Amino acid sequence: MVIDMVLKVYNTMSRKKEVFKPQQSKYVKFYSCGQTVYDDLHIGNARMYSNWDVVTRYLRWRGYNVFHVQNFTDVGHLTDDADQGEDKIEKRARLRRLEPMELVDEKIKQYWRDMDELNMLRPNISPRATGHLIEMQDMVKSLLDKGYAYEVKGNVYFNTSKFKDYGKLARLKLKDLKAGARVEVDPDKKHPRDFALWLKAPDNHLMKWSSPWSKGYPGWHVECSVMALKYLGPTLDIHAGGIDHVPVHHVNEIAQSESYTGKLFANYWLHGAHLTLKGEKMSKSKGNFITARDAIDKWGAVPVRLALVSGHYRSQIDFNKGMMETAQNSLERVKNMISSVNSQKSFGRKSLKADINSHEKEFIRAMNDDFNTPKALAQVFQLVKKVNKLLGKASKKWIHAARDKVIELLGVLGVKVEVEEQGDVSEIVDLLVSVRDKARKKKVFKISDFIRKELKKQGIIIEDTSKGTKWHY
Ligand code: AMP
Ligand code: ZN
Repeated sequence: MVIDMVLKVYNTMSRKKEVFKPQQSKYVKFYSCGQTVYDDLHIGNARMYSNWDVVTRYLRWRGYNVFHVQNFTDVGHLTDDADQGEDKIEKRARLRRLEPMELVDEKIKQYWRDMDELNMLRPNISPRATGHLIEMQDMVKSLLDKGYAYEVKGNVYFNTSKFKDYGKLARLKLKDLKAGARVEVDPDKKHPRDFALWLKAPDNHLMKWSSPWSKGYPGWHVECSVMALKYLGPTLDIHAGGIDHVPVHHVNEIAQSESYTGKLFANYWLHGAHLTLKGEKMSKSKGNFITARDAIDKWGAVPVRLALVSGHYRSQIDFNKGMMETAQNSLERVKNMISSVNSQKSFGRKSLKADINSHEKEFIRAMNDDFNTPKALAQVFQLVKKVNKLLGKASKKWIHAARDKVIELLGVLGVKVEVEEQGDVSEIVDLLVSVRDKARKKKVFKISDFIRKELKKQGIIIEDTSKGTKWHY
């Protein structure tokens, strides 16, 4: 279908929607900041990755060849943005009495399990920071040689006053920052905004490597620059991350990358808003979070994914039960429509061609407007309504085409609807419910909970009432 519309994306750098034009016509170099792997994936993180998954899926659907790199931070992310505090991974590993890399492995395994269930496409490369220490040291050496960095007592800092336009992405003004610095200024730094490229490790630190400056570890920002430049550089088409990354992480990534290469680091900067819980940012460090695992177990992976894309990526959304129920109901409507079409025996002669085309066109128009997923979803649901209305009146060809289009468009948003055609399962469910009752009576809750959870995944809800156990869809 020819659509005379261009994709526009909101570029944080210009604070404007800009026409998207990759450097090589249909090839997109895409880097998104990944997870610091010390804790479970929470649904705030999942929302962010879902945004970038939608960007990838949509661009691919529109014929672009997207090469997506998303890192794992497995060293160097400190509990404080000003190069103070402990390494998040080392701190948690110590608490749990694990090797830091043991913790990282555990969290990465869980990460893939949850992300796969949430139907997130795996990036082309998911590099780990600890696999790129040599490249990081090379970058630090080069920045020192070029006069952009300085060494003090085994630490190497980036000299922000040497980089013209430092802080442009966040509209930071260096002179204002001096006086208003939020944290105590490190006396070794020439300017409060200078940031660590390499840090000397204390004696009891586990994650440390030899370097020309000290036995230590890399700064968090240098990791992303190195991995992005290695696989996609020198200029990325899109660099994405959470809005929290704008003032420090991304400002610093730009400073060191552009000083290193002498080239523009990224053409488009995309930033996603946060998911909140009772109005507060969901966050691992504050402890107010719902893990992706719990959300999937409670509401099902597909409703969670639908809920995550139901808000525009630049709008904050508050996670609550109502939102999940809405997603479940919407999904139910789609599934019912598909079941009705699949079981339909008699057809009419009406065409749905014009409807399919116009809803798809509006879907594309919405997505071309900076990936407006709520507007795009509205088009899909309108098409679902039309199909329901024309059941029995439309021809087999067109009713099937409309059903397939609904499935396809939802798939572009990462929402995978599958309707298993099955016969009457009530006899099997009755049997499982009676096994569960027996397990409960014997207090074998592992089994009873397992049955309840598995049935829930199939959309079957068990309720314990005064008149015994009941179940329904
Ligand atoms: P972290 O592992 O904490 O560095 O976070 C990984 C990614 O999740 C980053 O891109 C963050 O911006 C994002 N993130 C963290 N908390 C939230 C939240 N509450 N809502 C949306 N994204 C978040
Ligand atoms: Zn990053």
